Amino acid sequence: MSTDFPEVAIRVGCHVSIGGNIYESVDRAVALGCETMQIFSRNPRGWQVKLLSEADAEEFKRRRKAKGISPLVVHIPYLINLASPEEKLYKRSIAAYIEDVERADMLGAEYFNTHVGNHKGMGEDYGLERLGEALDIIIERSKPKTMILLENTAGSGTELGYTFEHFQRLIKRVKRKDMVGLCLDTCHAYAAGYDVATKKGLEATLGEIDSSIGLKKLKVIHANDSKAPLGSHIDRHEHIGQGRIGTEGFRVLTHHPVLRELPFILETPKKSPIDDPMNLAKLRQIYKGR
Ligand code: ZN
Ligand code: MN
Ligand code: MN
Repeated sequence: MSTDFPEVAIRVGCHVSIGGNIYESVDRAVALGCETMQIFSRNPRGWQVKLLSEADAEEFKRRRKAKGISPLVVHIPYLINLASPEEKLYKRSIAAYIEDVERADMLGAEYFNTHVGNHKGMGEDYGLERLGEALDIIIERSKPKTMILLENTAGSGTELGYTFEHFQRLIKRVKRKDMVGLCLDTCHAYAAGYDVATKKGLEATLGEIDSSIGLKKLKVIHANDSKAPLGSHIDRHEHIGQGRIGTEGFRVLTHHPVLRELPFILETPKKSPIDDPMNLAKLRQIYKGR
């Protein structure tokens, strides 16, 4: 790998609010010193969607380009369940997803981060089949330019996606395999039982990703520490270095030759306005400290 490490910095950013005009989120990311960013393209907790105007989308793209923030990740709203056994929620989820993926395209997003959903007691085979069908419908109808990233989960309740085998089965099933990639959430992986906090555990995890879907599919890291223990299946994000993954764990993660080429996006707790700058600084400091 490159010899100028660690002078070549990792790309770090966080999830920022789109309050006010959507393009103001770029200013927020810039003020925080982000090199990459993630947003919801609309209120993530409701079905109602405010129309995104072409002018606002253009202004968003203009500001992002001017500041060189890349990549842009748009995260899907929370109510969507693409594996739902309820016909009404399933159809509504697909429709909302298509609306959202179109907004992501208007904004010029490189990636569209997707929660793979819950089978709600119907079993994993059912859930994965349902989800695969949904992804085929979505890709066929919306012909997205943005790449769909499936996010790994902690595996709480009936959540799918806590093992990379699920992504292997999904990608095998969907028609447009080239449109689907992976976002690795470090907190979720740890809670699911992947010990990404140690060199050995991280190598084993990346080995599993490689043998199931190919490491090239991994595009984004959600850098979150974990409040909950390894394998607990509890999804509780913690500030960088203050959880079970810890400073040493993030040193291992940010120094990995494959991972350090990828964008690291924080979804750490935001209780105070200093939290994001603190976590950004911490991650960069851990990286530089070797
Ligand atoms: Zn997520
Ligand atoms: Mn995440
Ligand atoms: Mn989470």
